[in-house]
Amino acid sequence: MDSGLLGVASGAAAAAAFMGYAVRGRSSSVFGESYYHGDRSRPALALTFDDGPSETTPRLLDVLDKYRLPATFFMCGANVRRCPDVAREVAARGHEIGNHTDSHARLDFKSPRFIYTDIARAQETIQEVTGTSPRWFRAPYGVRWFGVAQAQKLLGLRGVMWTVIGRDWRWPADRVSDLLLNKAANGGIICMHDGRGVRPAPDIGATIEAVEYTIPRLQERGFQFLTLTQILCPTN
Ligand SMILES: [Zn+2]
Repeated sequence: MDSGLLGVASGAAAAAAFMGYAVRGRSSSVFGESYYHGDRSRPALALTFDDGPSETTPRLLDVLDKYRLPATFFMCGANVRRCPDVAREVAARGHEIGNHTDSHARLDFKSPRFIYTDIARAQETIQEVTGTSPRWFRAPYGVRWFGVAQAQKLLGLRGVMWTVIGRDWRWPADRVSDLLLNKAANGGIICMHDGRGVRPAPDIGATIEAVEYTIPRLQERGFQFLTLTQILCPTN
């Protein structure tokens, strides 16, 4: 390979690496304003749950009630239509609701029109069913793309990734708990799951067990649990 071709190849590799970061990097704001942690001087954590509401979410709500702490639920519109009573229950118990698209499709290589429609439909469904209008958006799989920035702007949403992702859809509870206890730090946004995409009746036993085990231990260490709005916009 001559040096010109080598230059092209390394330029292409650098471009691919940049796109990988832009699309999936937790600190990337390339495809729209995005947050992944709160104030790092404050001993506070935000628990967030994606892919709900589901038939099994009420069990998680009972655990959160036991410790009297608020969380933020990134709901999919399709799940809200399937479990409207659970969605209302989440709001009624004082939790914040975020937008996690309607269909839980991966947004990379989708058109800006598809992306806008999928986010807007979830926004309308959540508003209709729960009476609250989300202000935070989390992309499925953390994958952002061209069109997300515009959709966020038009719908009054701001993007949120995470500081720690629990891997609770794959790992047993003890491994998830170890991860959370090791990685918890001031201003952290923890991403867990009370559903599995838009699948009905998912098994979220590991999620619930890990939450039940880690909350009191994190509280003992002095962490306060807040909603996303409280941890990201403490003045309003
Ligand atoms: Zn998801």
